[in-house]
Amino acid sequence: MKALLGAVAASCFVAVAILLLSWTTPFSGLNSTAYDFTLRLAGPVSIQSPTLIVGIDNDSLSRIGRWPWSREKLALLIDSIGRAKPRTIAVDVLLDDRTTSEADHKLAIAIANSGPTVLAAHMDRVQGTERWLQPDPLFLQTHVRLGHVHTDPDFDGINRRILSVKAIPEGVVPAFAIQVLKSADLPFKADFEQKVGPAEVFRPELINIRFVGDNYSFRHIPAWQVLEGTVDPSQFENQIVLIGFTAQGLEDQWFTPFAENGQKMSGVEIHANAIDTLYAGRAIHEAEAMQVWVALALCILFLWWLDRRFEGRGFYVAALLTGPAVLFASWALMKYFHLWLPFPPFWAAIVVVLPGLEVTKLIRVNRDLDRKIERLSNDWLSAAHLYEPEWPQAAGAVARRARFLAKGLRNARWKLSAIDFFNEELMRFLSFNNGILASIEDVIVVCDPDGRVVYQNPAARRLSSYRDNPGSVTEYLGSLLDGREIKVQSGTLNFVPSSDGKTFYNVTVAPISGAGAIFSLHDATAQHELNQAKNDMVSLVSHELRTPLTSIRGFSDMLLKYNLVEEKGRNYLNIIIDESNRLNDLIQSFLDIAIIESGRHKVTKSDFEIGPVLSDMFIVIGPVAAGKQIQLEPPANLDGMRVHADRLLLYQALTNLVTNAIKYSPAGTTVSMGVSNGNGMVRFRVRDQGYGIPADEAAKIFEKFYRRGNRETQEQTGFGLGLAFVKEVAARHGGDVAVESEVGKGSVFTLSIPNRPA
Ligand code: ADP
Repeated sequence: MKALLGAVAASCFVAVAILLLSWTTPFSGLNSTAYDFTLRLAGPVSIQSPTLIVGIDNDSLSRIGRWPWSREKLALLIDSIGRAKPRTIAVDVLLDDRTTSEADHKLAIAIANSGPTVLAAHMDRVQGTERWLQPDPLFLQTHVRLGHVHTDPDFDGINRRILSVKAIPEGVVPAFAIQVLKSADLPFKADFEQKVGPAEVFRPELINIRFVGDNYSFRHIPAWQVLEGTVDPSQFENQIVLIGFTAQGLEDQWFTPFAENGQKMSGVEIHANAIDTLYAGRAIHEAEAMQVWVALALCILFLWWLDRRFEGRGFYVAALLTGPAVLFASWALMKYFHLWLPFPPFWAAIVVVLPGLEVTKLIRVNRDLDRKIERLSNDWLSAAHLYEPEWPQAAGAVARRARFLAKGLRNARWKLSAIDFFNEELMRFLSFNNGILASIEDVIVVCDPDGRVVYQNPAARRLSSYRDNPGSVTEYLGSLLDGREIKVQSGTLNFVPSSDGKTFYNVTVAPISGAGAIFSLHDATAQHELNQAKNDMVSLVSHELRTPLTSIRGFSDMLLKYNLVEEKGRNYLNIIIDESNRLNDLIQSFLDIAIIESGRHKVTKSDFEIGPVLSDMFIVIGPVAAGKQIQLEPPANLDGMRVHADRLLLYQALTNLVTNAIKYSPAGTTVSMGVSNGNGMVRFRVRDQGYGIPADEAAKIFEKFYRRGNRETQEQTGFGLGLAFVKEVAARHGGDVAVESEVGKGSVFTLSIPNRPA
């Protein structure tokens, strides 16, 4: 808004300046030339008034005799025309002298008989005083009107207008053209005419002639033909007949806007043009200074808008096109509305404003540049400074920067080199960072907040499923890895196999606040193999332990059953049986988890109904709960709900959760289970009213062999493997397990398994 107001003010000011300039003499000359050019461009128009010219031309002079002719000749001419009953006869010949009284008398009689007549008056200046040269009173009869025949050529000698009346102290004489129309009794519109009582008064006003065309646009009849009677007199009937000199060399010749070929136009034809202009109401009005000023200001404002709207070449083309556009407007106004809007001031505006706008823009850009460089050198450099201590080339960079900023003269060249300088600094930082990223062995994939991959480091290219522009990060990581869905939430997944199963990665997800997330894939194949070997080893050993353990238990049972030992020994036997049961449980739990971790248990998912699985589970667990006086509440209304999972693993995982709930709850409480389906997940919730888990241990309980140190836990047998198993099962299904708990009140474990995609 501020900018607009500034532009409006500047436009008005520049418009005033240009308008003043356009009133100077050289510029007025330019305007006049433009006027002629536009008038010519608007082209000739058709003659509307019934006007014809009887010309005293070169032929007439050579046939009748040199000028001046005798008054008898003129009398004969007027008489011959008058007999044909023209509307009026207008004589553009000054009859201010006396010849012989007989000749003058004859002319006076001819005028008396000729009907409405107009005679010419001319203003003369003798020794500084103006006076009218007008016809002899003998000829100024009552039906005769007197009109001044002054056309007022401009300082360039071109006739463009007449004055409606010419007034000198001696008397006021209306223009010849006006008097002719009055005499011919033809109506015409003239806003310079006023009626004062019965009298007609004309305001002195310039009337711009709308020339119908170049020389000889009006019908010309040579005077000699009239005098010798070789013309058909009926041609004059009802016409305005102008008698005047058309011969070259008789001085009454003038340049007009149409005089393109250098040919002057006779004075009488200029009057014919003036008559036609008034009759047809085509006088050319000139736009007023105020109008031109407003249009100029608008034009400048338009150029300013163009400058803001377009840049560079677009602006120049648009601005320069404004020139022809104004010319076109000028032409159209002249042609269709007889209005003269001078276009040179507009062209001048374009010439002045165009570089003006460029200079302002330059100043603005320069100022912005200063500010930006200032900001760059403060913020950016201080940020860079923080970063630099880690950077091996820091010392050199700091010295270079200090040298650069120490320069006193900050001219345009300095500013440009400042941009280069900061650009180079930036490039060096970038290449430093790129170097770091390029040499990282881990695969790094970055996604934006919409989950689309925006960066992969060079290590990613080494992956067999690498793709340029992969799109969705979840889908892409699924294709790089074993197809599982990796969520955008911080955490680490260990030993995730690659798509070809040959490599194992530890996948770490680190969300960047508000800007997406970084996924790093660390090759943990070697570690995995070691683990695998260890697990294999342990499971082999465990497996091998089970056979002797079964024998120990079997034989101990037998010894008890057949009373083969004494009372004291029976106690020992019971301890042996209890311990071997514990050992068996430990081995079983360990084997369960080792088997799925090793991948030997392939997760085989199927679609099955949940209800029956849970019923089986509750049948088995029911007695355990009853033994501890804990009430079991199975889920209500499963309504045939289904899940897509490995049935056996899910059964075991849920069993672990419900067993834990019973184990870690006091007698008389309730363990309930609920199942829900929504947001692409089937959620199994096991709720107890037990001892609960403190928040700082909530994550640890899912680790292998982790058991809480509280009394209630220690009283229970267990190896800290049950929840690790549940977690592994959840991960294998692309789901997860979580706990919400409050010490002394109870816990809710939620196992979420993704629905099969529709
Ligand atoms: P275990 O039960 O064999 O000790 P788990 O891995 O199943 O091993 O559980 C790990 C630990 O988590 C347990 O030792 C116990 O302290 C705690 N815990 C598990 N479930 C619950 C529960 N429902 N309420 C309270 N504590 C629990």
